[in-house]
Formats: sequence, structure tokens, C-alpha cells
Amino acid sequence: MIKKPFVTKEKLEEIRKTIPTPFHLYDEKGIRENAKALKEAFAWNEGYREYYAVKACPNPFLIQILQEYGCGCDCSSKTELMLSKAIGCRNEDIMFSSNDTPAEDYLYAQEIGATINLDDITHIEFLEKTLGYIPKRISCRYNPGGLFKISNDIMDNPGDAKYGMTTEQIFEAFRILKAKGVEEFGVHAFLASNTVTNDYYPMLAKVLFEVAVKLEKETGADIKFINLSGGIGIPYRPDQEPNDIRVIGEGVRKVYEEVLVPAGMGDVAIYTELGRFMTGPYGCLVTEVIHEKHTHKEYIGCDACAVNLMRPAMYGAYHHITVMGKEEEPCDHMYDVTGSLCENNDKFAIDRMLPKVDVGDLLVIHDTGAHGFSMGYNYNGKLKSAEVLLKEDGSFELIRRAETPKDYFSTFDCFPVYQKIFE
Ligand SMILES: *Cc1c(COP(=O)(O)O)cnc(C)c1O
Repeated sequence: MIKKPFVTKEKLEEIRKTIPTPFHLYDEKGIRENAKALKEAFAWNEGYREYYAVKACPNPFLIQILQEYGCGCDCSSKTELMLSKAIGCRNEDIMFSSNDTPAEDYLYAQEIGATINLDDITHIEFLEKTLGYIPKRISCRYNPGGLFKISNDIMDNPGDAKYGMTTEQIFEAFRILKAKGVEEFGVHAFLASNTVTNDYYPMLAKVLFEVAVKLEKETGADIKFINLSGGIGIPYRPDQEPNDIRVIGEGVRKVYEEVLVPAGMGDVAIYTELGRFMTGPYGCLVTEVIHEKHTHKEYIGCDACAVNLMRPAMYGAYHHITVMGKEEEPCDHMYDVTGSLCENNDKFAIDRMLPKVDVGDLLVIHDTGAHGFSMGYNYNGKLKSAEVLLKEDGSFELIRRAETPKDYFSTFDCFPVYQKIFE
């Protein structure tokens, strides 16, 4: 399959007249269509709700679009909770799926009524000490360990993941919580990441539904929701077949009817906490080529670097690159596409076949709408870029300005040196 950008070269030329590269651009139309398709795929479940994983792209303008499709927020920290509150989320609109959680975060989560998803059995005591009580509604995160496989394909390695409670622990946690007066229970698990197969959610659902039936039976807990969390992936590579959310929704429904309905649990709500699937493909990083270098390899240097998109440096992740205006030209040149950090892993692509690239070309680096901008950092004193929304009507809007040196130095503002910097 050919991966085409959601924006034209002409539009990018127009945008960069007022917003200099690099910037992340988001596709409102794509986000809307996908959110609608997800909602429809799970419409069979009355209580269904998607809680967007805020960490994937914590921009209020984008999350407000998702809110129109009924989405709540899944938060991992206090600042994400603050953002969710600022856009009107309260109580059952917010899931708090954190780990290694500071007391301060629990206090704030409780203050705004978020549903707390406990990562570990020891957090029952920690939470009770922190709040002075245990909330009436609570969720526990499950990790069965071992390898998560589909036939012979290993999808991920939960046994090596820091998250969640063992089978024994989650049963014990439910007993303790029930004794402490919890009335509404939830079960959560995230066992594989970026799965590009329609089988992951149904398989995960089977594991979770079966454990939920046993949990109700053995502990008497009233399970109100089962949270399939994130993990539905996107085709970063052109040869990957995208997931079909209708098939996934239907797959989960089948397991629901096989496992939960016969156990008298046909009123349990299904929740999801998708991040990557919701916004990943509907974002791209736009950058200009500012140098080419011919040494032991051929290098293309752009004005973006790993602080704008860390995934290639961090995981060796593939992000497709389109050289704008050269879509029809043969990919007969091999390049490393680099940024300017003093780090040799600051490469958006290694040994990538592209059309002949020239200084001044605009590159679109695909699929940066989740875990892209948000993973950014400030190494080498680099500043975070702007974020721009390409609207349904073809116009564009700045939805986060680029950082300035003032932002970068702002944490020195109580020291005399701060004034000197701007003299
Ligand atoms: C990161 C995360 C998600 C979202 O994951 P995606 O791969 O972006 O779908 C959901 N829930 C929790 C608890 C997470 O940590």
C-alpha cells in the first residue's frame, strides 16, 4: 500500500508562511471519522466508553474533538488530570490508570472524582492512608504474566512488564476492597502494545472476561466495567494491513456473549483507553531539509530532531517519510535522515530509500499523532515545536505555539541569571 499524507504540498506551503517548520499537523477529518467508527463498532454494548489516553497527545483542542463522540479521558499523572478537568471532564469522565503513583496524584484524582485504577495490591493501603478512606468505585489492573500469544506469534511479554497484579493478587485485592466497602468494581489489563491484528482485543477480552466471572463468583464483588485499555495499533509501515475496528468490535461482542452473558454479567460496560489508534495516523511532523552531507554515508539534515519525535531514537521505530512534491519519483537514493542533536541515534530513518532529496524540500514524517509531540524533551536546549490543526473545511489553526527560549529558561525565573539571559 502507498502511504499518502493527509495534506497537500500547497497547503503546507501556505501554513509555513505563518508557522515556521518544524511543526506537528493534525487532521481533524481523520480524527472524527475514526472516532465515529470506534463508537459504532462498540455500540452493541450499552455502557461502552472510550477514555482517550491523554499521554498520547495531550492537546485540549484535539481531545475536545473526541469529547464530541462521547470520549472521556484516561490519565497517567496529575497534570493530565488537570488538563482533563480544564476541558470539562469530571467524575465518570475520567479514568486514572497510573503506576508508581505519588500520593499527591491520588489526592487530586479523588478530588475531581476520577475512577482510580490500582496498579498494585500494595496501593490499597497506600490509597487508604492517602485519602483516609477507599472510594466506593475502584478498578484493578491485571497482569497474568507469561507471554501473550496469538497462535505461535508472540505479541508481547506481560511477564516482563512492570504493570498490574498477578492472578493471586487481584483476587486478594478484590476481597480486601470488598471488605472495605467498595461497591463498584472494574477490571483492567494492557497486555500488548501497537498490535496490528484484529485478534488482540478479542483475545484480551477472553482473558479478562473469564477472570471477571471468577472474581465475581469467588469474591462477591459487583463488576461494573471491564477496561480493555490501549494497544490497538496502526500501520506505521506501508506494507501493513490496518486494523478494522468493526471486526474488532464484533470479535469482542462474540466473546462477551460466550463468556459474560451466560454468567449473568450481560450488563457489564466495556471501556477502552486507546491512544495510538485514536490519533496516531492523523498527525504528521512537517520539517524542511536544511543540509545534505556526503561522508561515509549520505545524510539528509532537517530542521526537526528527536525532541520533536523520539520514537525512532527510543525504539528504532519506523516512521514513513514522504518527500513532498516528489511522490511520483523513484525511490532510488539511500539516506539517513537526521536531526541536529549531538546523539547519533537522532535519525528519523536509517538506510531509507527515497527520491533524490534536495535542500529546501519539505518532508512529511507520518503517524506522529500519538506518542509524538508528547514524548518531546529539551536536550541540547532544543525547543518543542508548534502543533497545528488542519480543519475539516481545509483551513488551519495553531493549537499550540512553539516554545521560545523564554519557556526553556522559565524555571530559572527566580534566579538573577534569568534577567541576564534576556538582556
Ligand atoms: C499508554 C496507555 C494507553 C494507550 O496506549 P496506546 O498504545 O496508545 O493505545 C492506555 N492505557 C494505559 C494505562 C496506558 O499506559
